[in-house]
Amino acid sequence: MAITKTDFMRGMQCEKMLWLDRHKPSLKVIPEEVQERLDAGNEFGDAAMGMFGPYEEMTIYRPGTHIPDKKAMVEKTKEHLGLGTPVICEAAFMDYNNYCALDILRKTAKGYDMYEVKNTDEVHEQFIKDAAFQYYIIRRNKLNIDKIYIVLHGKEGEELFHPVEVTEEVKKLYSWINENIWRLNSHQKEKEEPDIPVGEQCTHPYECWYYGYCHKTMPEKEKESEEQLSLL
Ligand code: SF4
Repeated sequence: MAITKTDFMRGMQCEKMLWLDRHKPSLKVIPEEVQERLDAGNEFGDAAMGMFGPYEEMTIYRPGTHIPDKKAMVEKTKEHLGLGTPVICEAAFMDYNNYCALDILRKTAKGYDMYEVKNTDEVHEQFIKDAAFQYYIIRRNKLNIDKIYIVLHGKEGEELFHPVEVTEEVKKLYSWINENIWRLNSHQKEKEEPDIPVGEQCTHPYECWYYGYCHKTMPEKEKESEEQLSLL
């Protein structure tokens, strides 16, 4: 078991959330509006791939599924780095199985610039942390990253894709990522469910998809059958 960007962000919000993702994922309830937001974000991300013109996309799915084949994506990314491809989308990297797929990697005279795409019009703290995770994994792969941008949805009158530079803020978090990634990696493997009381972390920065389970608002019958399902 390793850590992806999503695992890291979820584990930093609450370790129990990450543990439940690993051991009882069927208890998760994703509200419809959240799913709609995620889908809209994916569409915006797909459109942003072309913001610098022609590009190569690294996404490869496992046969017959929509599950990314991480190892194949990492290999394809290596191949394109070797070829000097100017714009690589969903560029995939691994470090001791910890994994990231960066939205856009763009070759420059000094190395590469990183672009992380968000379907919103302002930079939030979470986006910086999110980009810091990508930067950490990519730096551990010895790639030279010059500038780092969050690509926002431009406000009215602006271009559709609006890059905001966050290089300094992101690079500063390298040690913080290093301190936490290994801790989360070992905690997620523990056999016992963590005993973490509900609190502010259940709604900040995002409402947790296990809210009903931990707050006991999930109907008992549904909960029992979900628990049984998770054991299958
Ligand atoms: S509902 Fe709260 S305590 Fe339960 S997993 Fe989510 S964040 Fe953690």
